[in-house]
Amino acid sequence: MAVWRQATTAVTTKMRIAITSGKGGTGKTTLAVNLAHYLARKHDTLLVDLDVEEPNCHVFIKGKLQQKEVAKRMVPAWNIRACSMCGKCITWCRFNSLIRLGNTILVLPELCHSCYLCSELCPDAALPMQAFPLGKLSRIKDGELDFLEARMEIGVEQASPLISQALDYVDNHFPGKEFQLLDSPPGTSCSMIAATKTADFAILVTEPTPFGLHDLSLAVETLRQLQIPIAVVINRSGANDGLIEEYCSRESIPIWSKIPHLRKIAGLYSEGQLLYQKVPELQQSLDEIIAKLEELS
Ligand code: SF4
Ligand code: SF4
Repeated sequence: MAVWRQATTAVTTKMRIAITSGKGGTGKTTLAVNLAHYLARKHDTLLVDLDVEEPNCHVFIKGKLQQKEVAKRMVPAWNIRACSMCGKCITWCRFNSLIRLGNTILVLPELCHSCYLCSELCPDAALPMQAFPLGKLSRIKDGELDFLEARMEIGVEQASPLISQALDYVDNHFPGKEFQLLDSPPGTSCSMIAATKTADFAILVTEPTPFGLHDLSLAVETLRQLQIPIAVVINRSGANDGLIEEYCSRESIPIWSKIPHLRKIAGLYSEGQLLYQKVPELQQSLDEIIAKLEELS
């Protein structure tokens, strides 16, 4: 049974909801975008695309760009002319992000945790810290909805530092939002954990197939480790829903809604259109989910 980590959190002040899934392609982003847009008609809402390797909420957001900034991280840059090759920095770095190769000190930015230790202790000041680009943060206003996209720079290997910076941006710029909806990376990777670990609640989007069930169970275990309460939404609901219903009943996980498998949803999605105004079945599902979110207060 999931533990209610912040049972006293009031919706009127702030509720951070992660929308995630055990695997890609389950309709996570479709739900996130449509729920955020619909919710914004009634509540002060922010949508954050933290699926930083493949952010695609923007396809459905038609608003105006308000701010764009480069997210950076500080890493040491080795100065060959200053270095006396004492080798001490190699032993200081507990993240193994400095390597000695012959007469060269190699910095591995992906492993660096920007702790400044080597830079501050180097006897020759040969490791000055420099900005290393992680990606871009774009802030957009679409009607009532505020939207923040975090997009990783090509060549950057770790998603978690950019996700952390995007969440810092949210804390600094949108502290009073009633609802912050986080479109999290799918799966159970480090990036999914980075995106969901500060959430008050997680909605898991799944589909009624054996693969869907398998990946759902992994995501449930991860979120339970993080002590984040969860609910499930079944997308492409149909004759096989029993697979998910049986599992959720056994695990005492509430199913908040079922979105039927409709051909018109796929058609509108492929055109980059918001669905809830044109698909009454989806709007009904969103009403059910919003009612549950409001109950969390
Ligand atoms: S601690 Fe400074 S001087 Fe010593 S090897 Fe590292 S970079 Fe060079
Ligand atoms: S800043 Fe910290 S983590 Fe990065 S290389 Fe230096 S000691 Fe290692």
